[in-house]
Amino acid sequence: MKAEIVSVGTEIIMGSTLNTNVQYITQRLSEFGIDVLFHTSVTDDPELLREVTNIALERVDLIIFTGGLGPTQDDMTKEVVSDTLGLKLVLNPFIQNNIKEYFNRTNRPMPSNNIKQAYLPEDSKFLMNRVGTAPGIYIEKDNKIIILLPGPPREMKTMFDEQVVPLIKRDPTIMTKTIRTRTINTIGIGESALEMKLKDIIDKKEDIIIATYAQEGKVDVKIIVKENNIESADNKLDRIVASIDRRISKYIYSYDNESIEEVVYRKLLEQNKRIAFCESCTGGLITSMFTRIPGASKVFDRGIISYSNTSKMEELNIEEDILLKHGAVSETVALHMAKNLLDITGVDIALSTTGIAGPSGGTQGKPIGLVYIGIATKDNAYAVKVMLNGARHSIQNRAALRAFNELRKIL
Ligand code: AMP
Ligand code: MG
Repeated sequence: MKAEIVSVGTEIIMGSTLNTNVQYITQRLSEFGIDVLFHTSVTDDPELLREVTNIALERVDLIIFTGGLGPTQDDMTKEVVSDTLGLKLVLNPFIQNNIKEYFNRTNRPMPSNNIKQAYLPEDSKFLMNRVGTAPGIYIEKDNKIIILLPGPPREMKTMFDEQVVPLIKRDPTIMTKTIRTRTINTIGIGESALEMKLKDIIDKKEDIIIATYAQEGKVDVKIIVKENNIESADNKLDRIVASIDRRISKYIYSYDNESIEEVVYRKLLEQNKRIAFCESCTGGLITSMFTRIPGASKVFDRGIISYSNTSKMEELNIEEDILLKHGAVSETVALHMAKNLLDITGVDIALSTTGIAGPSGGTQGKPIGLVYIGIATKDNAYAVKVMLNGARHSIQNRAALRAFNELRKIL
């Protein structure tokens, strides 16, 4: 099945709104084995929208429109698309009532132009909007499927997930095959290096899609398999995951989008261990990420933000000589921070960070992005050196992820 996504809105064309809808819809459609061939954006202009609609009808089987379903004058996707398809708009009393109730619920008077949203093209299905007023529309005509979704991303996503996905899954002309997907989450390897390691597997098509998605400090590998039935799809998926595993196992922290801090939390809980952090360059970020996890208190003792040399001496008993000799950003200081924190707190694992997040403060010997992560347990203590790039906040984010990844490894 070939698809096109049409984004309607002058704000998209002007560049004032980032077109996140198109990314979301494309990614989701690929999970169902639908090939999105075109992304089109068009201003709020009826003539241009008509032109775009006609072109799309010529070249694809499924068209998804987003935007222009609102109550105002410039919102005219429904009107133009219906007219282009030769469908009349008819008032739907059920939707009319829904919109009235929506305004009652939110305690606001209903502006009279909202009634426009209660008109639907004849013979179409309407898609309920749980989080807004503009209903979506699902049209089947001349072997084409045309779906109209609202522009606000929250409304679009909710409607897509809750209503479009079940319709797609039920439609035998779209779902000709069984689709199974899995995500492998990695930290510590860049996207291009990862792609190189998997290149021959990625290139070997035949109903398999393997794509890498880089996010800050981590890369996900998404595998999509199309088969005639669930069993053969699962078998194929298992085989691919196993072969990817063999090549990149040391970078994998999860198979189902669990966050790295949750992985660490789960392992601590399983092993009945307690942890403490002392953070210099990450400024409490590690502690903050970890304490977002419900139940963190079961394994978490404390987090100390030890930024100045004075603090490192007063709170972590680092000797002044060591700081003067090696500098605060050094393997030795990272190691002592972690070891001393272990002694002070009596936890099972202590972690430290010290580094140069920039934008100033870098030197030839200690450039921006240099971070040491110290780890101490009762029978082991070491510090690892990592070099990170990006702006200050990226370096901090990446340092936190790498710190959790070191914990994952030792656990
Ligand atoms: P509309 O349904 O055209 O009135 O759009 C309402 C709002 O949704 C716009 O002001 C944008 O902020 C947002 N929006 C519309 N289209 C998109 C899109 N393709 N991606 C992200 N946001 C969008
Ligand atoms: Mg608009």
